Order: sequence, then structure tokens, then C-alpha cells
Amino acid sequence: MVEAKKIWMDGHLVDWAEANVHVMTHALHYGLGVFEGVRCYATKGGGGAIFRLEEHTERLFASAHIVMLDIPFTKEEINMAVVETLKANSLSEGYIRPIAFLGAGSMGLLPKDNPVNVAIAAWEWGAYLGDDGIKNGIRVRVSSYLRHHVNSTMTKAKITGSYVNSIMAKREAIESGYDEAIMLDTEGYVSEGSGENIFMVKDGVIKTTALTSVLKGITRDSVMTILKDKGEVVREERFTRDELYTADEAFFTGTAAEITPIREVDGRVIGTGVPGPVTKGVQETYFKAVKGEDSRYEHWLHRL
Ligand SMILES: *Cc1c(COP(=O)(O)O)cnc(C)c1O
Repeated sequence: MVEAKKIWMDGHLVDWAEANVHVMTHALHYGLGVFEGVRCYATKGGGGAIFRLEEHTERLFASAHIVMLDIPFTKEEINMAVVETLKANSLSEGYIRPIAFLGAGSMGLLPKDNPVNVAIAAWEWGAYLGDDGIKNGIRVRVSSYLRHHVNSTMTKAKITGSYVNSIMAKREAIESGYDEAIMLDTEGYVSEGSGENIFMVKDGVIKTTALTSVLKGITRDSVMTILKDKGEVVREERFTRDELYTADEAFFTGTAAEITPIREVDGRVIGTGVPGPVTKGVQETYFKAVKGEDSRYEHWLHRL
């Protein structure tokens, strides 16, 4: 079970076991909440560094703006609260979950006066898709569930309710013996994983899905920067599932999944079946960057 000592809730640190909400919490019924996933890494000197905290907070507020949820704190207050939460839990490395959601009060789809509650939790969390996955790659399947249409659930916001779709795709993948799902968009092109963006490499050309139906991942952006700094060009464009079947390399990116190579899609081996040179090069630089071992990316770190 996930656990730590303290959770920041509506402006105060409370004990983990006391961080509760009422069952009439509006978001529990209808899914109107927005969240972030942020990581903090221990650096060589020992102190922790939060990876791209300001960008995550920006996106939290952008998600809230999209669904018209009024977060009753400033971005600066949220940034400070994230640091405070890590310190209260003596964490120099871990996963951070800020969440803002419509609280208890009236029911009905559009209550006027319910409060917007905000909480920040942090705990120790290893590789989301497993250490073996990071090292040797994972097996994925194309889901029968589509990623949301751009005009149904907004795809640029991390909205709590949208993840029912991701959970169904993930469950289907796991129950049919795979490690993760790839979702197609409503026009049938590759979109992203259940909570990760996707990259593919073919004959030296690197592609990632354009920002249509996918979340604008901060790891995706970091990887694009890293590749640019290596002299590579990343094309942001749609590609098909059979392009992916015949790729030389493919990998997922996400705060939770970090950089996870994909070694098989729908039973087709990708490339040689082991992580390729582009994937490994990106992984190496990314893990150095997050741990403060590459001065070019120091500006991404919010040191504790
Ligand atoms: C969070 C998430 C990602 C990854 O975004 P990061 O900012 O890299 O963590 C990608 N796709 C979906 C659907 C997500 O929820």
C-alpha cells in the first residue's frame, strides 16, 4: 500500500490517515478533478531535485482552466506546498501527486457553491512499468478502446474522470498478457499509452504523435529537447499501427513510466527485440538530467 507521513490538504499538512474527504465529494461521483504526476530524484550530492516542477504546476492550472475549476491557491503557493510536502515526509526521491477537485456540498452536475479542494501527496515509487521494463523493454498491445475524441473529454487536461478510459485499456492489455496498452485516436492513428506518450524510430527518422489527441507530456518535451541537443530531428506527426509494427525502435515517455522501451507490439517484435541505440541514448541522458548530472539541464531542476 502507498503510504507516507503527511499530506498537504487545503493549505495545511495533515497526517496521512487523516487526509479524508466525504463520500458526497462531487468529484467522486462525476470525475471533475485535475491532477499532476511529478517526480523528485535524489541527486549526487544527496539533496532532492524536483523535475520541472514549474511546468507541472502550469499544466495543473491549465487543466483546471480547461474544465473551469477555480484553484483557490496561486501557482507559487502550490510550488511551495510541493516542497513542503516532500520535506514533511523526509523524501529526497519520490512521486508527487497534486490534485484539485470539486468537493462536497450540492449534488447535480453543476453545483454553484461546492468548494474546490486541493491536496498534495508524495511517496516513494519506483519504476512504474518495472525495472525490467526500463532495462529490457515491455510488450504492448493496441487497445480496443480509443483515446478520447478531442471534442469529448478534453485531451490536453489531466482530468480525473478521463482515466476510466485509460484504466479499461490498461486492464484489457494486462488481462491479455501484455504490459501496457497503446490507444489509437478516433481516426485510427496511434495516439499514446494509457498514461504515456509514444515515440518511434525508423531508418533514422524519429517520430512522436502530434499534439492532437494526446496529452502534452513534459517528459515528451524533455525527450524532444534531449534529441535536438544530440543533433536529431523529431517529427511530430501521426503514424499508423503498422508503421509501429515495422519500427526499428519504439518507447514510451511519462513522469511515471520515465523512458520505457517497447520491445513488442501485438506480437510483432520491434527491431531486434532489445532497446535500440536511440532509446538507450535518450534514457542515459534523461536519467543524468533528472539526477542533476548534466549541467545543460540544470534549469529543469527545482532543488530542495
Ligand atoms: C500524464 C500523462 C502523460 C505523460 O505526461 P508527462 O508530463 O510526461 O508525465 C501522457 N499521456 C497521458 C494520457 C497522461 O495522463
